[in-house]
Amino acid sequence: MFRFTSLSSGSQGNALVVQTDDATFMVDCGLGLRHVEERLACRQLGLSDLDFIVVTHEHADHVGGVAKLARAANCPVLASHGTLAAMGPDHWKGVTTHALSAHRPVKLQGLNLHPIVVPHDAREPIALEVGSSGRRFAMVTDLGSATSYLLERLKGVDALVLEFNHDRDLLSSSTYPPSLKARVGGPSGHLSNDEAADILAHIARNSLQVVVAAHLSQQNNRPELVGRLLEQRLSSTTQRFIANQDEGFDWVLIQ
Ligand SMILES: [Zn+2]
Ligand SMILES: [Zn+2]
Repeated sequence: MFRFTSLSSGSQGNALVVQTDDATFMVDCGLGLRHVEERLACRQLGLSDLDFIVVTHEHADHVGGVAKLARAANCPVLASHGTLAAMGPDHWKGVTTHALSAHRPVKLQGLNLHPIVVPHDAREPIALEVGSSGRRFAMVTDLGSATSYLLERLKGVDALVLEFNHDRDLLSSSTYPPSLKARVGGPSGHLSNDEAADILAHIARNSLQVVVAAHLSQQNNRPELVGRLLEQRLSSTTQRFIANQDEGFDWVLIQ
């Protein structure tokens, strides 16, 4: 078995759960403990099921609930040196942390975890590729642009969670102050729908079973715009889902 689900996806909080026959782990947690427990329970999971937590970067929507969760679940936290350092040692009191080195895969509980540094305005942010039993899954959110290394790594993945943050026109006509528009739309901000669709065009192969569009801006995006792009860029055999802030998305099985 190799499956994944999201408890929440977007700038108000992110939490993804990946489960294989060998391990269950969370990627990011920007939710409070009560919400995490409730949403895990809806997926027939409890805190004691979590083996570890991977954190992609130090922004609050990804790390806000991690330390508390790690203490409550008594599980270690893995993140880049930069992400761990950005939070400061006091933040991790009572938590076992392991530093991930960029681009250096780690074997853990039957999994290959491959951190990929991405351009985003954080200390040392990563995307995460996970391999298990010959299948590959990648979680790629919070990046302003794709690097050639990222595109190379994504070739041949079976399942992909990819940021579709904003529609360029909605962002430019939004009420955001100019500095925030520049940050979100810049090369170290977030992916626009078109940029995400270009990544798909680059990597889409018949092997790609499923794509989940994630981290949609509630103000500067519309699920129907994303749905249209997925329709255009993916083959009919690729399943597609769109994550949302309140519910994330249900279990997706990688065959
Ligand atoms: Zn985020
Ligand atoms: Zn971020």
